[in-house]
Amino acid sequence: MAQLTSLNIQTPNTSAPFLPMSQHEMRKLGWTQCDIIIVTGDAYVDHPSFGMAIIGRLLESQGFKVGIIAQPDWKSVDAFKALGKPRLFFGVAAGNMDSMINRYTADKKMRSDDAYTPGGKGGSRPDRASIVYSQRCREAYKEVPIVLGGIEASLRRIAHYDYWQDKVRRSILLDARADLLLFGNAERAVVEVARRMEMGEAISDLTDIRGTAYIRKDTPEGWMEIDSTRIDRPGKVDRIINPYVNTRDLESCALENGGAGPEEVEAQPLHLESLSENKIRLDRSRTVIRIPAFEKVSKDPVLYAHASRVLHLETNPGNARALVQQQGDQEIWLNPPPIPLTTEEMDYVFGLKYARVPHPAYGDQEIPAYKMIRFSVNIMRGCFGGCTFCSITEHEGRIIQNRSQESIINEIKEIRDKVPGFTGVISDLGGPTANMYRIACKSPEIEQSCRKLSCVYPGICPNLNTDHSALTQLYREARQLEGVKKVLIASGLRYDLAVEDPEYVRELVTHHVGGYLKIA
Ligand code: SF4
Repeated sequence: MAQLTSLNIQTPNTSAPFLPMSQHEMRKLGWTQCDIIIVTGDAYVDHPSFGMAIIGRLLESQGFKVGIIAQPDWKSVDAFKALGKPRLFFGVAAGNMDSMINRYTADKKMRSDDAYTPGGKGGSRPDRASIVYSQRCREAYKEVPIVLGGIEASLRRIAHYDYWQDKVRRSILLDARADLLLFGNAERAVVEVARRMEMGEAISDLTDIRGTAYIRKDTPEGWMEIDSTRIDRPGKVDRIINPYVNTRDLESCALENGGAGPEEVEAQPLHLESLSENKIRLDRSRTVIRIPAFEKVSKDPVLYAHASRVLHLETNPGNARALVQQQGDQEIWLNPPPIPLTTEEMDYVFGLKYARVPHPAYGDQEIPAYKMIRFSVNIMRGCFGGCTFCSITEHEGRIIQNRSQESIINEIKEIRDKVPGFTGVISDLGGPTANMYRIACKSPEIEQSCRKLSCVYPGICPNLNTDHSALTQLYREARQLEGVKKVLIASGLRYDLAVEDPEYVRELVTHHVGGYLKIA
């Protein structure tokens, strides 16, 4: 695995007023060609809550010329040629949401609106946008590499259940025929890809970057392969209980009536393998875990659940190993997840020169998603809850990445001073979970070697430091800022953690609840 790429946070931050969306804007910047073109399913809003802005501005800060093709008309190739041919690669993303969730309701009815589109109009992106855009980019410039990113690609990186088709689909990388897929928060990976391509490396040689997936034919020499059933034994699938049935009203409920419980299982002695028995001490950085093939998991729910569990077992960047899954005659290789950004790096990424408003090409059309977040501040990333029904741990990882208090306060001041329409109310100081800010394992060494799937299930781990004082302090400083009347907390709150710190709860309910509080 390649050495950890640090972001160059010393680069002089010269930036365009907006990343160009037309050749006219490129000419005004004195550019004849973009190094990288980001194609996205969302309207371009130059704000750190939007993926194309955060990745585009970051690459710009590292010295690359980045153009944006936002919500292109996918019915022909023309829109994909709007900025000419990129020198290094196309970066393709469906947008801030999976395109199928964006386009359809849970009833599988087409939505008439789209919060990420000017005027909130539906229909500005295709189904499975990552696949369609990649195909059009290939059609436009066959030789230009395609790098997939964003949440749609990230969550579909291995064989995955697709609610819309009610079947298991293969990795999106195969359907999109992209060269590389970046999963999770991709700052480190995208900068490394760009730098190494700039130095002349071919995209096909970029096989050792954390947080990336790619297609290969076989396991390379020097790697040790482990069958995933050696680290997690596939078990039986429990019958799904109807969540709306009150078991007390159900005569037939054996458990409620004190009847037969789960089948008695004879106790088996555990065989613990000592280190001396372990003939070969495996080097984790050269070990790959083979999870069951697409053809198997698509037919067998037990193996599907097992593969999903192994993916989650390998999400701790401190000890995660590479994964490989066969799909037809090809293999999807997943490198270990990205190393979380340090606080200094998070501050750098969020402190880039965002215009904080939509691109002027949209005129005065309202973009609902922008309207919703324009007065809110993202203070952290990640979640150590490990819930498999949720995308956060699988996408952003289980280690909390925090911004410094100073950086957050500076952003509030910027909103106060620059964002049109600000009336003194910060609508949210939050993140994936409102109150995981600066909460972590008591020991970095233990955290690095931990193999638990969650720090809060089935109960709060005794090693978790649940002190909320940094967050309480942040709330207090924010609400005392001149020109700020109210600071609300709109992100969901993990109540089992919050009640561990009564002073935090007092601060929260006394000063920061605007009529409703979301809890998880
Ligand atoms: S030891 Fe506990 S608190 Fe630490 S990382 Fe593991 S589960 Fe989380």
